[in-house]
Amino acid sequence: LLSLRIPARVVVALVAGLVTFWTLAPTVEPQSANTYAIVTAESRRSLPFRTSGNADMVALEQVATLFGLKISEDPVLAGLSIDARGQRILVVPDQSFAQVAGQVRNLSAPVRRERNGWQVPIDFLNVVGSALNTRIEIRRASHLVIVGDLRIPALTVRIDRQGPNGRVVVDITPATPHRVTREGNRLEIRFDAHSLDLGAVSGAAPDFVGGVRVEGPTLVVALGGEADSFRTDTEQNRQTTVELLPPGAAPPTPPSPTPVKPPPPPATVEITTPGTIRSIAIDAGHGGEDNGTVGPTGIKEKDLTLQMARRLKASIESRIGLRVVLTRDNDAAVALDQRSATANSNKVDLFISLHANGAPRPDVAGAQVISLSGDDYRDRFPATDASNARVPVIGGGTRLIEAVPWELAQMPYVERSAALANNLVKHLAAQRVPLFAVPSSQLPLRVLVGANMPALQLEMGYLTNADEARALGTAERVTAIIEAIVTTINDLRRAPVNGTGVPADEARRR
Ligand SMILES: [Zn+2]
Repeated sequence: LLSLRIPARVVVALVAGLVTFWTLAPTVEPQSANTYAIVTAESRRSLPFRTSGNADMVALEQVATLFGLKISEDPVLAGLSIDARGQRILVVPDQSFAQVAGQVRNLSAPVRRERNGWQVPIDFLNVVGSALNTRIEIRRASHLVIVGDLRIPALTVRIDRQGPNGRVVVDITPATPHRVTREGNRLEIRFDAHSLDLGAVSGAAPDFVGGVRVEGPTLVVALGGEADSFRTDTEQNRQTTVELLPPGAAPPTPPSPTPVKPPPPPATVEITTPGTIRSIAIDAGHGGEDNGTVGPTGIKEKDLTLQMARRLKASIESRIGLRVVLTRDNDAAVALDQRSATANSNKVDLFISLHANGAPRPDVAGAQVISLSGDDYRDRFPATDASNARVPVIGGGTRLIEAVPWELAQMPYVERSAALANNLVKHLAAQRVPLFAVPSSQLPLRVLVGANMPALQLEMGYLTNADEARALGTAERVTAIIEAIVTTINDLRRAPVNGTGVPADEARRR
């Protein structure tokens, strides 16, 4: 088989209208071999470089333009003083270091003063990043510089044949959730990312694959005439294998859900009837004129919760194949009761409300999971009526009928919701999400009261804490929170009933 490698990587940023192309023919790529692409959430700029020894050297003048730095000669040092929004960086000709905020940082090559200006190695951008307090990731192999917390996974693609089938194997670094769908003669692998860094594409199976290309966060595979159906196999979001079957082959099996973690120990409380969890409502707190908490960094709770809700929906649907209903999918005001009503009318099996916290003291921090406190409602709950009010639901189990007084709907689920909250806390801790001093708590929250299914509210952290507000904007923290929630839901699907600790209302029901 023809094996073809595209040596330099192709980077396609978010910028609309950027030309993309199919990469099985050795095309000339837009990211030429002698420039770095500087990618931010809003823009994509080019920075030419020249290789000298082991270092990629760039013009300091151009770095200054890109990052808004002010350069002045320092006659005492015979070097340069570079002002980065109030932080001072010092460099000296022929020295392989820079000094920033009084600290010396090594560079991969000496700073050079040349006739046409000053040259610095590309890793000088790391110094600029720390002066500007901005994350900067330099990928030398792909000539890519990522500014800020953008998720741009690097992909390599192998195409080959497996017996009568074609096969496409995509390696993903770092592991990134994604889903595979087919649109006519295109197979689309959509990633939970800002854009994609497509590296080597090797191998060929022209009957099945005409080419691959990147469109924003989607890897598009053009299907050849032999590709009739497909099946996928995903390993921990690090690798996806798509098998392409010729006409007349066995019908494809539905994609198997990705195991998120090894099977958990049995739950101590039956949270929902095993095997009956099919759908989930995710509630993005606040919206419209209601910003929720606004942190010192300007981040708004309503935006954070909506972003997280959308990502969570994509992760849950693609990885464990459950249906996800969002109580809002835009920046709109939604009444609290309307949120649980959406969950009830969709007959979801679990309700999760996303929020971030605020406190008068800026040092208060940490995530917290809240379930409904029954204390305010218990006296009003007619326990004897509860068993009569249950009706069977399709697929097993029972559920309260709608006749239950609205504000009491959550009562039968109070204990299960609390157990679920504790399980989520456990998974947040495992993902190293910092936790509030009291990580789970039962409170009389209005949004939970009307939910006719296990329900909880996740406060992802305190936006009034500057460090935490910043962290909540990073891919690391977002991914950690998503992993914790997905794992918690996955536990619900897998946890067998172990017969211990079944809540009273469950026992009554049997
Ligand atoms: Zn809130």
